[in-house]
Amino acid sequence: MTDNKEMDLTCPACGKTMKKVLIPSAGINIDICLDGCGGIFFDNRELNKFDESHENADEILKLIEGREFQKIDESETRKCPVCHIPMVKMGSGTGGVQIDVCNKCGAKFLGNGELLKIREGGTVDTTKTDELMNALYQENLKNVLGEYAAKPLNSSPRRQFFENLANKFLSR
Ligand SMILES: [Zn+2]
Ligand SMILES: [Zn+2]
Repeated sequence: MTDNKEMDLTCPACGKTMKKVLIPSAGINIDICLDGCGGIFFDNRELNKFDESHENADEILKLIEGREFQKIDESETRKCPVCHIPMVKMGSGTGGVQIDVCNKCGAKFLGNGELLKIREGGTVDTTKTDELMNALYQENLKNVLGEYAAKPLNSSPRRQFFENLANKFLSR
C-alpha cells in the first residue's frame, strides 16, 4: 500500500484539495474537505486509530465549526483519491447512511450528508449512528478480529465520536 501521508488528496466528492488535519492525541493526519463539501477521508490505519478516545474529536470539531460546506450529490460514484478506482457504496441503502469504500486500499470516505442523517430533526438518531458504525467498521471487524471483536461497537468511544461530530457539524 502506498503511503499517502505527505500527498495532498483531491476530494472524491467535490474535487477540491483536502486539508491534512493533525490529530495530536492520536499522532496521525486525516484528510478533511474544509474548502469544499466537508467530507472526511480515512485510510485504513486512520480509521483504526483516530477515534479511540473522546478528546480526539475536538481537533476536528474546532476546524469545522462555523464553516459553510458545499452541497454534493450523495448518489454519485466516487473515485479513491489514492488508487483512482471507483469506490463502492456501503451502508443500508435508501434513506440510510451510506459511505464510500475503496476495495483496494481500504480507505473510506464519509460525506457530511451522512452526519446530517445522524442529526436529522435536531437530535441524534441512534439508528443512523448504528448504520454508520456498521458501514465504517464492518470490514475492520472482519480484518482485525482480535482487537475489534472484543469491543462493543455501540457503546464505544468511536460511536460517541461520530455523534459528537454530527452534532457539532450541523449546529452552526
Ligand atoms: Zn469535498
Ligand atoms: Zn484506494
